[in-house]
Amino acid sequence: MSNLTFPDLDTLCEHCGYVLKGLRPEGDCPECGLAIAASSPDLRMGPGGGNQVENDLVRRPGAFFRTMCVGGSNAPARWFMLKTVLLIGLLWLLWDTVGGTWSLEVDLIEAGLVVVSLYLLSYVEALGVVYFARRRGWRVPFRLAERVVCYATVGWVPAAILMGLALDRYVAGDIDRWMSRLLGAWGPLQSIELLVLVGAVAMLWFELLVWIGVRQTKYANSWATGPVEIVDVEKSASSVET
Ligand SMILES: [Zn+2]
Repeated sequence: MSNLTFPDLDTLCEHCGYVLKGLRPEGDCPECGLAIAASSPDLRMGPGGGNQVENDLVRRPGAFFRTMCVGGSNAPARWFMLKTVLLIGLLWLLWDTVGGTWSLEVDLIEAGLVVVSLYLLSYVEALGVVYFARRRGWRVPFRLAERVVCYATVGWVPAAILMGLALDRYVAGDIDRWMSRLLGAWGPLQSIELLVLVGAVAMLWFELLVWIGVRQTKYANSWATGPVEIVDVEKSASSVET
Protein backbone atom coordinates (compact mmCIF):
# COMPACT_ATOMS: atom_id res chain seq x y z
CA MET A 1 0.00 0.00 0.00
CA SER A 2 3.07 2.21 -0.29
CA ASN A 3 1.79 3.89 -3.44
CA LEU A 4 -1.30 5.17 -1.59
CA THR A 5 -1.19 8.41 0.33
CA PHE A 6 -3.19 9.26 3.40
CA PRO A 7 -4.79 11.65 3.93
CA ASP A 8 -5.42 12.17 0.24
CA LEU A 9 -7.57 14.52 -1.79
CA ASP A 10 -10.86 12.91 -0.82
CA THR A 11 -10.15 12.09 2.81
CA LEU A 12 -12.66 13.56 5.24
CA CYS A 13 -12.56 13.40 9.01
CA GLU A 14 -14.94 10.53 9.67
CA HIS A 15 -16.36 12.31 12.69
CA CYS A 16 -16.98 15.85 11.45
CA GLY A 17 -16.37 15.79 7.68
CA TYR A 18 -13.39 18.18 7.75
CA VAL A 19 -11.19 17.95 4.62
CA LEU A 20 -7.95 16.38 5.84
CA LYS A 21 -5.93 16.78 2.64
CA GLY A 22 -2.36 17.95 3.21
CA LEU A 23 -2.30 17.23 6.96
CA ARG A 24 0.12 14.85 8.70
CA PRO A 25 -1.41 11.40 9.30
CA GLU A 26 -0.03 11.44 12.88
CA GLY A 27 -1.96 14.58 13.82
CA ASP A 28 -5.50 15.32 14.95
CA CYS A 29 -8.44 16.79 13.06
CA PRO A 30 -8.22 20.60 13.46
CA GLU A 31 -12.00 20.80 13.61
CA CYS A 32 -13.01 18.12 16.14
CA GLY A 33 -9.74 16.72 17.52
CA LEU A 34 -10.27 13.14 16.32
CA ALA A 35 -6.98 11.43 15.48
CA ILE A 36 -6.49 11.64 11.72
CA ALA A 37 -5.43 7.97 11.70
CA ALA A 38 -8.98 7.11 12.87
CA SER A 39 -10.25 8.23 9.45
CA SER A 40 -7.98 5.85 7.56
CA PRO A 41 -9.66 3.57 4.98
CA ASP A 42 -7.51 0.80 6.51
CA LEU A 43 -10.09 0.68 9.32
CA ARG A 44 -12.77 -0.08 6.71
CA MET A 45 -12.09 -3.59 5.49
CA GLY A 46 -15.36 -5.24 6.43
CA PRO A 47 -17.48 -7.09 6.29
CA GLY A 48 -15.77 -10.48 6.25
CA GLY A 49 -17.75 -13.44 5.03
CA GLY A 50 -20.11 -16.15 6.19
CA ASN A 51 -22.43 -15.94 9.17
CA GLN A 52 -20.23 -13.32 10.76
CA VAL A 53 -22.14 -10.69 8.75
CA GLU A 54 -25.52 -11.52 10.33
CA ASN A 55 -23.90 -11.95 13.72
CA ASP A 56 -22.22 -8.54 13.62
CA LEU A 57 -25.30 -6.80 12.24
CA VAL A 58 -27.39 -8.13 15.12
CA ARG A 59 -24.90 -7.85 17.96
CA ARG A 60 -22.83 -4.77 17.10
CA PRO A 61 -24.33 -2.88 14.16
CA GLY A 62 -22.40 0.31 15.00
CA ALA A 63 -19.07 -1.49 14.70
CA PHE A 64 -20.26 -3.32 11.59
CA PHE A 65 -20.97 -0.10 9.71
CA ARG A 66 -17.92 1.67 11.22
CA THR A 67 -15.68 -0.97 9.63
CA MET A 68 -17.69 -1.43 6.42
CA CYS A 69 -15.67 -0.84 3.26
CA VAL A 70 -17.36 1.89 1.19
CA GLY A 71 -15.44 1.44 -2.08
CA GLY A 72 -15.60 -1.30 -4.68
CA SER A 73 -18.59 -3.29 -5.81
CA ASN A 74 -22.01 -3.54 -4.19
CA ALA A 75 -22.39 -7.12 -5.43
CA PRO A 76 -21.71 -8.80 -2.03
CA ALA A 77 -24.22 -6.46 -0.32
CA ARG A 78 -26.86 -7.13 -3.00
CA TRP A 79 -26.26 -10.85 -2.66
CA PHE A 80 -26.75 -10.55 1.12
CA MET A 81 -30.04 -8.72 0.54
CA LEU A 82 -31.25 -11.27 -1.99
CA LYS A 83 -30.54 -14.14 0.41
CA THR A 84 -32.24 -12.36 3.33
CA VAL A 85 -35.37 -11.33 1.42
CA LEU A 86 -35.76 -14.72 -0.30
CA LEU A 87 -35.42 -16.44 3.07
CA ILE A 88 -38.22 -14.25 4.46
CA GLY A 89 -40.38 -15.07 1.41
CA LEU A 90 -39.71 -18.77 1.85
CA LEU A 91 -40.58 -18.70 5.56
CA TRP A 92 -43.75 -16.75 4.73
CA LEU A 93 -44.71 -19.39 2.17
CA LEU A 94 -44.01 -22.24 4.60
CA TRP A 95 -46.06 -20.58 7.34
CA ASP A 96 -48.98 -20.01 4.94
CA THR A 97 -48.85 -23.54 3.56
CA VAL A 98 -48.84 -25.05 7.05
CA GLY A 99 -51.75 -22.76 7.99
CA GLY A 100 -53.58 -24.11 4.93
CA THR A 101 -56.14 -21.31 4.61
CA TRP A 102 -55.75 -20.87 0.85
CA SER A 103 -54.44 -22.76 -2.16
CA LEU A 104 -50.72 -23.04 -2.93
CA GLU A 105 -51.09 -20.59 -5.83
CA VAL A 106 -52.45 -17.89 -3.54
CA ASP A 107 -49.73 -18.62 -0.99
CA LEU A 108 -47.05 -18.34 -3.70
CA ILE A 109 -48.43 -15.03 -4.93
CA GLU A 110 -48.56 -13.73 -1.37
CA ALA A 111 -44.95 -14.75 -0.66
CA GLY A 112 -43.89 -13.17 -3.97
CA LEU A 113 -45.64 -9.95 -2.99
CA VAL A 114 -43.75 -9.97 0.32
CA VAL A 115 -40.43 -10.26 -1.54
CA VAL A 116 -41.31 -7.51 -4.02
CA SER A 117 -42.59 -5.23 -1.23
CA LEU A 118 -39.42 -5.63 0.80
CA TYR A 119 -37.31 -4.76 -2.25
CA LEU A 120 -39.47 -1.72 -3.00
CA LEU A 121 -39.45 -0.46 0.58
CA SER A 122 -35.69 -0.99 0.82
CA TYR A 123 -34.87 0.93 -2.36
CA VAL A 124 -37.29 3.73 -1.50
CA GLU A 125 -35.40 3.93 1.79
CA ALA A 126 -32.07 4.18 -0.09
CA LEU A 127 -33.43 7.08 -2.18
CA GLY A 128 -34.65 8.75 1.01
CA VAL A 129 -31.20 8.37 2.57
CA VAL A 130 -29.54 10.03 -0.45
CA TYR A 131 -32.00 12.94 -0.32
CA PHE A 132 -31.60 13.38 3.43
CA ALA A 133 -27.80 13.11 3.31
CA ARG A 134 -27.54 15.66 0.52
CA ARG A 135 -29.51 18.16 2.59
CA ARG A 136 -27.26 17.53 5.57
CA GLY A 137 -24.05 17.80 3.53
CA TRP A 138 -23.11 14.16 4.18
CA ARG A 139 -21.12 12.20 1.63
CA VAL A 140 -23.61 9.41 0.98
CA PRO A 141 -24.10 8.77 -2.76
CA PHE A 142 -26.72 6.27 -3.89
CA ARG A 143 -24.13 3.50 -4.15
CA LEU A 144 -23.28 3.80 -0.44
CA ALA A 145 -26.93 4.23 0.60
CA GLU A 146 -27.74 1.05 -1.34
CA ARG A 147 -24.97 -0.83 0.44
CA VAL A 148 -26.17 0.28 3.89
CA VAL A 149 -29.78 -0.60 3.05
CA CYS A 150 -28.82 -4.03 1.66
CA TYR A 151 -27.22 -5.01 4.98
CA ALA A 152 -30.04 -3.43 6.99
CA THR A 153 -32.51 -5.86 5.36
CA VAL A 154 -31.67 -8.24 8.21
CA GLY A 155 -34.04 -5.92 10.12
CA TRP A 156 -36.91 -7.14 7.93
CA VAL A 157 -36.83 -10.58 9.55
CA PRO A 158 -38.57 -9.60 12.82
CA ALA A 159 -40.79 -7.21 10.84
CA ALA A 160 -42.04 -10.07 8.67
CA ILE A 161 -42.66 -12.30 11.68
CA LEU A 162 -44.62 -9.57 13.48
CA MET A 163 -46.67 -8.71 10.37
CA GLY A 164 -47.27 -12.39 9.60
CA LEU A 165 -48.64 -13.01 13.07
CA ALA A 166 -50.80 -9.87 12.97
CA LEU A 167 -52.22 -10.73 9.53
CA ASP A 168 -53.00 -14.26 10.68
CA ARG A 169 -55.01 -12.92 13.61
CA TYR A 170 -56.71 -10.39 11.33
CA VAL A 171 -57.76 -13.01 8.78
CA ALA A 172 -59.05 -15.22 11.59
CA GLY A 173 -61.19 -12.30 12.77
CA ASP A 174 -59.45 -12.24 16.13
CA ILE A 175 -58.43 -8.60 15.97
CA ASP A 176 -62.04 -7.45 15.45
CA ARG A 177 -63.20 -9.75 18.22
CA TRP A 178 -60.48 -8.81 20.73
CA MET A 179 -60.73 -5.08 20.16
CA SER A 180 -64.51 -4.88 20.31
CA ARG A 181 -64.41 -6.86 23.55
CA LEU A 182 -61.76 -4.51 24.87
CA LEU A 183 -63.16 -1.18 23.68
CA GLY A 184 -66.80 -1.85 22.87
CA ALA A 185 -67.21 0.14 19.64
CA TRP A 186 -64.74 -1.18 17.05
CA GLY A 187 -65.24 -1.05 13.26
CA PRO A 188 -63.51 -3.21 10.63
CA LEU A 189 -61.71 -0.13 9.27
CA GLN A 190 -60.08 0.36 12.64
CA SER A 191 -58.55 -3.11 12.39
CA ILE A 192 -56.90 -2.07 9.12
CA GLU A 193 -55.59 1.05 10.85
CA LEU A 194 -54.23 -1.12 13.62
CA LEU A 195 -52.48 -3.33 11.04
CA VAL A 196 -50.85 -0.26 9.46
CA LEU A 197 -49.67 0.76 12.92
CA VAL A 198 -48.24 -2.70 13.56
CA GLY A 199 -46.48 -2.46 10.19
CA ALA A 200 -44.91 0.87 11.14
CA VAL A 201 -43.67 -0.55 14.44
CA ALA A 202 -42.40 -3.67 12.65
CA MET A 203 -40.23 -1.47 10.39
CA LEU A 204 -38.40 0.04 13.35
CA TRP A 205 -35.46 -2.34 13.47
CA PHE A 206 -34.79 -1.96 9.75
CA GLU A 207 -35.03 1.82 10.09
CA LEU A 208 -32.75 1.78 13.11
CA LEU A 209 -30.12 -0.25 11.25
CA VAL A 210 -30.23 2.16 8.29
CA TRP A 211 -29.90 5.12 10.66
CA ILE A 212 -26.91 3.55 12.44
CA GLY A 213 -25.38 2.68 9.05
CA VAL A 214 -25.69 6.22 7.71
CA ARG A 215 -24.39 7.73 10.96
CA GLN A 216 -21.29 5.51 10.70
CA THR A 217 -20.62 6.13 7.00
CA LYS A 218 -21.65 9.74 6.39
CA TYR A 219 -18.02 10.83 5.92
CA ALA A 220 -16.53 7.40 5.22
CA ASN A 221 -13.25 7.12 3.30
CA SER A 222 -12.05 4.56 0.79
CA TRP A 223 -8.76 4.10 -1.04
CA ALA A 224 -8.99 5.94 -4.35
CA THR A 225 -7.50 2.97 -6.19
CA GLY A 226 -10.42 0.77 -5.17
CA PRO A 227 -10.71 -1.63 -2.28
CA VAL A 228 -10.64 -4.89 -4.24
CA GLU A 229 -7.21 -5.92 -3.05
CA ILE A 230 -8.01 -4.76 0.50
CA VAL A 231 -11.09 -6.99 0.60
CA ASP A 232 -8.97 -9.89 -0.62
CA VAL A 233 -6.42 -9.27 2.12
CA GLU A 234 -9.24 -9.28 4.68
CA LYS A 235 -10.61 -12.55 3.35
CA SER A 236 -7.26 -14.31 3.39
CA ALA A 237 -6.54 -12.93 6.87
CA SER A 238 -9.79 -14.32 8.26
CA SER A 239 -9.25 -17.68 6.61
CA VAL A 240 -5.84 -17.89 8.25
CA GLU A 241 -7.44 -17.19 11.63
CA THR A 242 -10.04 -19.95 11.34
ZN1 LIG B 1 -13.00 16.10 12.64
